[in-house]
Amino acid sequence: MDNIKAIKDYAKKLGLTNISETEFDSFVVPSDGYKFMVNCLESEYQYRNQKAKERRIKQARIPAYKTFGEFDTEFQSGISKEQLNTLSNLNWIDNIYNLILLGPPGTGKTHVALAIGNRALEMGYKVFFCSMDTLIHILKTHEISRASATKLNYIKKCHLLIIDELGYLPIDKIETNMFFQLISYLYEHTSVIITSNKGFDGWADLLGDTVLATALLDRLTYKCQVISLSGDSYRLAHRQNIFKELQK
Ligand code: ADP
Ligand code: MG
Repeated sequence: MDNIKAIKDYAKKLGLTNISETEFDSFVVPSDGYKFMVNCLESEYQYRNQKAKERRIKQARIPAYKTFGEFDTEFQSGISKEQLNTLSNLNWIDNIYNLILLGPPGTGKTHVALAIGNRALEMGYKVFFCSMDTLIHILKTHEISRASATKLNYIKKCHLLIIDELGYLPIDKIETNMFFQLISYLYEHTSVIITSNKGFDGWADLLGDTVLATALLDRLTYKCQVISLSGDSYRLAHRQNIFKELQK
């Protein structure tokens, strides 16, 4: 028992939280020291992995859980099952490809981005999700706000940055410049997903500077898949009617 206490004390000093807090009776094999050591280290390893995953999920700020399985490719013909499969296996994130999802409201852009984000989190990638609006806020305030600084530091370390809804609010020249600096920083080490209701032609107007918009598109689209979703809004087509529900 003294040995176990010593192990737990040393584990605590070494920051091996799980070992230091485990009641060993359940799996200790006193006669087999190696096996015991392996069990200890394995459970510490699993504990740390789990904690790291929980931290990553929290830091990613993904607003909803959407899956590839829920996505109806019959309704949305702008993306095929094969394309969804390719996107879901995430090799493209390892190869630092970007993804731009274009299309009118309700066509499933955010759904696809969320499904990728959730998959990437499950597979151990660091992900950050934000609207374009929030991203601009982070970029504008990171020098005076600790919360923004923390988020920006995290974005810079991510494997995947998802920027939702470029195009709903106009962006001025200074903001565009900050955005361009960030995209340049991330270039070739972080995959970026952008969803937008505007086509590339509309981006120059939106970003208020044709030269910067061209340079930005040049960087973003160098290694990039562009997918245009089209058709009717899934929301409108599947609108839920409160009266119909209540009469069931
Ligand atoms: P967008 O970002 O293009 O405006 P969303 O991805 O937010 O559209 O889609 C609106 C809603 O409709 C969401 O709840 C989403 O899950 C659902 N949706 C959109 N397209 C599909 C689809 N093809 N199959 C299943 N659900 C869909
Ligand atoms: Mg959306």
